[in-house]
Amino acid sequence: MPPLDAVATAAEPDAVTRDRAEVLNARYGGLPAQDVVALAVEELFPGGIALVSSFGSESVVLLHILSEIDPFVPVLFLDTGRLFPETLAYRTEIVGRLGLRDVRTIGPDGERLAALDPLKALWMTNPDLCCRIRKTEPLTKALGGFDAWFTGRKRFQTRARSSLHMFEADGRRIKVNPLADWSASDLSAYADERDLPPHPLVAKGYPSIGCVPCTDRVLPGEDARAGRWRGSDKTECGIHFGLESDGSGI
Ligand code: SF4
Repeated sequence: MPPLDAVATAAEPDAVTRDRAEVLNARYGGLPAQDVVALAVEELFPGGIALVSSFGSESVVLLHILSEIDPFVPVLFLDTGRLFPETLAYRTEIVGRLGLRDVRTIGPDGERLAALDPLKALWMTNPDLCCRIRKTEPLTKALGGFDAWFTGRKRFQTRARSSLHMFEADGRRIKVNPLADWSASDLSAYADERDLPPHPLVAKGYPSIGCVPCTDRVLPGEDARAGRWRGSDKTECGIHFGLESDGSGI
């Protein structure tokens, strides 16, 4: 078990990986999302890339793109133990609908939870530590065997993501953001054209969905992410540490 004060966030990129990301952006940064996914799966990182998905409100688009290219690419689903039951049901629905063949549910270490969050109340007193043991540590561990990973982040989502590149250095790994330049209407159009089911909580006022204690409904006129960690200064979970101060997740 890691020491209790161990910091396990996304790693600072090394120089070699940073240079590689720059080269990849220069060569392929302007390609459509579908082409980037195919390139990454088939040529850049064959057998060495995973998609990390929250099965949240916009996740189905990237999952669908991947399923059409190679449904056997590993999909890592991070179950923090505090997710909405609707998210767990939606994951099952989407996996079946898209025919994804290698979805791996990952989660926090039981000993860490027993030692640090036995009452499931850590989110109230130390949400950064809660995110670390429930999100960042298990994801860092699960990515250990991969050279690269896909995320579904978009530039339009937040100010911190407004300069998001298609390829990023993440320690010794490359992070690939195929939807970086997609707009909200692009996502809606893609899902509508293919009749992809939305997350059930979107219709109930949750345009951005994380853990139950830290996700609130969003009121008309509010930012889509206004319900995440509402009433707190916290805006990041550590997964994309060093690259943005916003956090979503995935
Ligand atoms: S989002 Fe909230 S409940 Fe989920 S891991 Fe972070 S602090 Fe804990």
